[in-house]
Amino acid sequence: MIEISEKRAVELVTRLMEIPGPSGQELGVSQTVEQTLLAAGVPASCIRRDKSHQRSHFGGETGNLIVKLPGNRRGPRVLLSAHMDTVPLCVGCRPQRRQDKIVSALSTTALGADDRAGVAVVLTAALEALEKNLPYLPTTLCFFIQEEVGLQGSRLLQANLLGKPKLAFNFDGGMATKMTIGATSGVRMNAMFKGIASHAGIAPADGANAITAASLAIARLQNDGWLGAVKKGKFVGTSNIGVLQGGNATNVVADSALVRAEARSHNKDFRDRIVQSMVDAFTWGASQVKNLKGESVKVEIESRIDYEAYKLDKDDPSVVAATKAAKSLGLESVMAISDGGLDANWLFQHDIPAVSLGCGQRNVHTTNEYLDVPDFLNACRIATWLIQNADLA
Ligand SMILES: [Zn+2]
Repeated sequence: MIEISEKRAVELVTRLMEIPGPSGQELGVSQTVEQTLLAAGVPASCIRRDKSHQRSHFGGETGNLIVKLPGNRRGPRVLLSAHMDTVPLCVGCRPQRRQDKIVSALSTTALGADDRAGVAVVLTAALEALEKNLPYLPTTLCFFIQEEVGLQGSRLLQANLLGKPKLAFNFDGGMATKMTIGATSGVRMNAMFKGIASHAGIAPADGANAITAASLAIARLQNDGWLGAVKKGKFVGTSNIGVLQGGNATNVVADSALVRAEARSHNKDFRDRIVQSMVDAFTWGASQVKNLKGESVKVEIESRIDYEAYKLDKDDPSVVAATKAAKSLGLESVMAISDGGLDANWLFQHDIPAVSLGCGQRNVHTTNEYLDVPDFLNACRIATWLIQNADLA
């Protein structure tokens, strides 16, 4: 069994969770990670930051932090990654140890173990190898920004700075034995219905109501089975109308309505069919609502791919290595496919197939969030095993 300094790992994760760092404000975390590595003897020339934040529509203080360690034995390059940002609910948290858990001492904040525990796991693996002078593979550490706001850091990653890793492991939420090898694809849409305003009492027929048009479109999607859990033949996916905003006053025929929606499926073509059914319904709904002159509501539709689906084979080298890492601790990995997007979706788009592993986080994004310490320590051992042995699997 891999030996690690448990005390150091727990102190590290506690210190990292104390740092405020919602999406776009990751500089404090990034600097702490950098200082920790410099103190362990990593040359400053191995540490870089990309410019992903400059291309993110969220802006932000800093880019992805990328650390290229040479390793001290031959073999393929390994990537260990985790995201530095937390949801805003974690800001101000005070981590406190209670038996086998770390919780937030304040009932009003989440903990931020999602994903500072992942950051601590990646750092622990590097520190163990460096300080104990263990034989380890050439390794790239990558700390992403802006995961919680639509995977911006991994999406905009300057992947050429990573040094072409052959084996890749992303540490994020859940059990240490949970091994996510695929995830769904998602599209977000905005449909802006533009109606024609008129006085609702004096000249209603001069107007064309945008809210009515949006409602007809939504009703048609509902009636045709394109909302919620969508199933057509052997294809499945999900869709949702999440926002409907419009109108100004009861005595004005509404001249605008914004609909925001999403569609997901593990099958890209089927996801595109769901999106197309929404486009058709929005266009149809707009055309159905006209004023006396025959002028109809217009609709402008934007859609944007949040992330593409991916799936690794069961014999993918990273999958085999992660399974073996868990086995070295006497643990059985559980393979999973995610119905949400992960940084691994974008890593796959950058030609880096990555396995996602949990780090002991529970109830993330809520004030009941806690870190299961034994499970977190297992994730630290798995990462430490991987940078030494991932190619031997
Ligand atoms: Zn996360």
